[in-house]
Amino acid sequence: MVVDLVLANAKAYMDGKIVECSIAVDRKRVFKVGRETNMPKADVKTDLKGLLVLPGLIDAHVHLRDEGKAYKEDFCTGTAAAAAGGFTTVFDMPNNSPVTMSAETLRNRIVAAKNRILVNVGFYSAFPDGVERLEGLVREGVMGFKLFMTEQIGGLDIRDDAALLEAFRFVRELGSLTAVHAEDEHALRRAEEQFKLSGRNDTNAFLKAHSEDTEVKAVNRLLYIDKEACMHLHFCHVSTKNGLYAVVEAKKAGLPVTCEVTPHHLFLSTEDLRRLGTLAVTMPPVRNKAQAEALWNGIRDGSVDIIASDHAPHVLAEKEAEKVWDVKVGVPELETTVQLLLTEVKRGRLSVGDIVRLMSERPSEIFRLKGKGVIKSGFDADLTVVDLDKKQRVDAAFFRSKAKYSPFDGRMVEGKAVKTIVRGQVVMEDGEILVKPGSGEIVRRA
Ligand SMILES: [Zn+2]
Repeated sequence: MVVDLVLANAKAYMDGKIVECSIAVDRKRVFKVGRETNMPKADVKTDLKGLLVLPGLIDAHVHLRDEGKAYKEDFCTGTAAAAAGGFTTVFDMPNNSPVTMSAETLRNRIVAAKNRILVNVGFYSAFPDGVERLEGLVREGVMGFKLFMTEQIGGLDIRDDAALLEAFRFVRELGSLTAVHAEDEHALRRAEEQFKLSGRNDTNAFLKAHSEDTEVKAVNRLLYIDKEACMHLHFCHVSTKNGLYAVVEAKKAGLPVTCEVTPHHLFLSTEDLRRLGTLAVTMPPVRNKAQAEALWNGIRDGSVDIIASDHAPHVLAEKEAEKVWDVKVGVPELETTVQLLLTEVKRGRLSVGDIVRLMSERPSEIFRLKGKGVIKSGFDADLTVVDLDKKQRVDAAFFRSKAKYSPFDGRMVEGKAVKTIVRGQVVMEDGEILVKPGSGEIVRRA
């Protein structure tokens, strides 16, 4: 038999270790992993010269924009950025225009995405108007429901505990999950109004309004409600020691809770925010170094389930508003995340196994992706090939994302994704995109 592709002379991360092998790929799946001499004939044979192959990396928190926000990013540029950064699968957040919050808006979004995407894309939905509409969205294959606790996006009243409990019970019954942005709306608005009244419009005021307690308060409230519902609650971008502690305690108590941290909360601190100004404003904001260190500890001891980028592109002018309250929050991160993390592998703070667990295995488990998360025959041929020795300086001017700036611009990084293979197709090689839009596939929660 002749297979589609053989990746020869590879090192692959399999079963918890790095093994020298060749990988045969056929009809979008891994056909065989083994010695070079046991490989079938192939249409294309690529010598990887000892490069490391990881199961395709998954970014569970991405804002692909498009539709009414296509001026910031579209399906094509967003997924090109994903491929360039080494991601084979990304999940799109629902705060779009229109907001993804019904079977109809989701279907329209999938139709708009289908012929434009370059990697696998899954979709979150916001809560619909009425719990009876949740089922339709689950049937359409949503990765989960996104709940913003800072302002109501979607149909669920975030101030109403009883409404939250009812919605959580429905989501549990449907076997889905809720991913939450946990910052307490009431505390946040009150602080913000007071700062505005006293003429404080600077990033320090923003930091104070988005205090650590604002996060912890929302985390605790949601955990309290979920004690009754027992739904899978996934905390997005946990940024504080006490927020993480609350999540860990809930896990110990047996609640189905998972959490994610972002590169900006790991690699940036309030010192960087002072240096970078409004460009580095995110929600939740970056914290002091002790908080970031607590997140690193959480990665080390396994309390942190996944790392996701929270890629949130905006037009540069939107990042430069005079008053911090008008600044659009978030930064583009699809093209820096893997580089920053591989640099920590080089420095010994992370292992290759950590990267695979945090960005492939656990995301696949949490979001129930079929056939992903490991390199194994019969599984999808989603593969990220990395060069651990490649040194370079982050240069945002070359981003595939429409947002060509970064809080990490100018940083030296070591380690880079050099090939992104999606369902057996080489989508990116040495920074070049090799496929046409539409080659990516829509993924669903199984
Ligand atoms: Zn986000």
